[in-house]
Amino acid sequence: MRDGKVKSKRTITIGDESNSCIGVTLWGVVADAHSYQAGQVIALKNCRVSDYNGKSLNATSFPSDIVIGTTLREKRKDELEAWMLGSAVGDLKDTMRQIGDAPRANGSKGSNTPTLLIAQLKELAESIDTINSNKPVYCNLNCDLSWVFVPEGSDRQMFYMACESCKKKVMESMGRYTCESCGKASETATPTYNFSVRVSDCSGSIILSCFGEIGETILGMNAR
Ligand SMILES: [Zn+2]
Repeated sequence: MRDGKVKSKRTITIGDESNSCIGVTLWGVVADAHSYQAGQVIALKNCRVSDYNGKSLNATSFPSDIVIGTTLREKRKDELEAWMLGSAVGDLKDTMRQIGDAPRANGSKGSNTPTLLIAQLKELAESIDTINSNKPVYCNLNCDLSWVFVPEGSDRQMFYMACESCKKKVMESMGRYTCESCGKASETATPTYNFSVRVSDCSGSIILSCFGEIGETILGMNAR
């Protein structure tokens, strides 16, 4: 903080018998006001929903808005306690689903990579912020593969012969491959994919380059 004081921060995860859970960030006095422990019943008033980490909550800054365990006098507390009695807190962590975190096919938690439409990706890639920051943009696309092609003007093959040391293109002469980049000469070189695909979704289409292993994934076979 600007005045040099360290502001306490604490994150807890709350859940219930719906098997959903969500992180709650507690700041400042609220973080130190109670002794938060796993397995407690907790009531939180006036939380603010944020999009951080999928979805999460920011707690109020008034300790009196948070009530824990025995001081709660509501029927809901008994219901939650009954549910907790039947569950081991440690196991819950693995079985509960984080709110706002889409489940993946393989069961692992989703990453923070956004899923965009092609039009949104183009807009993002062309935005001033992206260009100025000079950082790559990562996203997931749900799209159809329209064509696979080799860009015009190249030597019209789906692959090139790559140096086994540096992966750059090698020159072949009389059965030997010479790498202009690292200077290595060898009798062998690795065929490596370099082609393009056009993919589309409801918002538009885009051309993507497919090198090496990505090409293998798309075509389902290696370049040999
Ligand atoms: Zn090389």
